[in-house]
Amino acid sequence: MELREITKKQYEALGISERVYEFGEKIWDGLKERFDETDRIAECNQLKVINAMQESRVSEACLMGTTGYGYNDLGRDTLEKVYARVFKTEDALVRPQITCGTHALALALMSNLRPGDELISPVGKPYDTLEEVIGIRASKGSLSEYGVSYRQVDLLKDGGFDYDGIKEAINDRTKLVTIQRSKGYQTRPTLSVKRIGELISFIKGIKPDVICMVDNCYGEFMELTEPSEAGADMVVGSLIKNPGGGLAPIGGYIAGRKECVENAAYRLTSPGLGKEVGASLGILKDFYQGLFLAPTVTAAALKSAIFAANIYEALGFEVFPDSKESRHDIIQSVTFGKPEGVIAFCKGIQAAAPVDSNVVPEAWDMPGYDAPVIMAAGAFVSGSSIELSADGPIKPPYSVFFQGGLTFPHGKLGILKSLQYISDEGIAKIY
Ligand SMILES: *Cc1c(COP(=O)(O)O)cnc(C)c1O
Repeated sequence: MELREITKKQYEALGISERVYEFGEKIWDGLKERFDETDRIAECNQLKVINAMQESRVSEACLMGTTGYGYNDLGRDTLEKVYARVFKTEDALVRPQITCGTHALALALMSNLRPGDELISPVGKPYDTLEEVIGIRASKGSLSEYGVSYRQVDLLKDGGFDYDGIKEAINDRTKLVTIQRSKGYQTRPTLSVKRIGELISFIKGIKPDVICMVDNCYGEFMELTEPSEAGADMVVGSLIKNPGGGLAPIGGYIAGRKECVENAAYRLTSPGLGKEVGASLGILKDFYQGLFLAPTVTAAALKSAIFAANIYEALGFEVFPDSKESRHDIIQSVTFGKPEGVIAFCKGIQAAAPVDSNVVPEAWDMPGYDAPVIMAAGAFVSGSSIELSADGPIKPPYSVFFQGGLTFPHGKLGILKSLQYISDEGIAKIY
């Protein structure tokens, strides 16, 4: 009892009223079993990562970096072995020279496709930034400029795969299929590893030599297995999301079949050089330690998302995914139906940040968006979306997207703080 009183005082010092705190406690009490399952998945994945580090013989020397060309960079080469073991692939490319998730995906695509080839997305429109990589929106240096064509098969209305449409779309030129695991900022369901596996077997049944790539952003460590164990030839992601564990300050990875990874390495550096160059500078300790922490960090983000869904659903708002459904990524959306809700939510998230908590976020006309966007992030790594962050476009249906939380207590504080703002503004009433 004493512990609870002390905790309540701490929340009070951070501007959380007793009413909001008690409401949060009630919701949290109902989630213990669900959180236990999340912790068990984290436990399994933690063991998987430790095992991969031990089997790859990670040593203290691996934490050092190289400069210049980076020949014989033991730490870099060993880290790539660790990633290959974690994702159960033949090889991996894990580099600070891969600047972000979009870059990693562009690299995987551009290095494995040749003029005249065709790329297919059988799961609808890909992530916004890939539109310019592919050339769906005209852009300098796009795949389209290099003579790679693109076809898209949308998901069915019920979220299922359009198997007939996919079969029809696959042709002689089909070289690579890109499958986005996370819904990103769309409203379709995120794909489970099992569903990705079913899709890949269907595609390989029609054309066995097609390369199946999975955009794994936001999905790593959400389940016990990764899409690379369900038939994907390449899985690709960003280190400032899940696998960087909040510590990696930059970077991306491509794990997959040897030939696919080799192609990517020759494109990242140069034909003839490939994986042999690329100094790791002083960054490896953060890459290793981040991967080590990633299973529990992603579990914390997942629990924060589940907590948010349960809080806001209980208050009558539409949440996606809903409070009960199974989850395969860390993104949560809440629909407020009016701009004030989105703004108050983001102000609350910002006010809970360890960095820049005194900054008040405002909506602005960001390049590339058709409505003003408000963003909240007080992160140690700029733009990191494994850290607690939220954003939303100021347009109907006035939804906010929320993700991250390096620890559950921080995620919980963020949600309670958002609720404090929402309730102070009279947008929701807590009973
Ligand atoms: C974040 C994300 C990307 C792009 O990653 P950046 O690091 O922002 O470039 C691509 N696909 C999905 C599904 C993502 O969530």
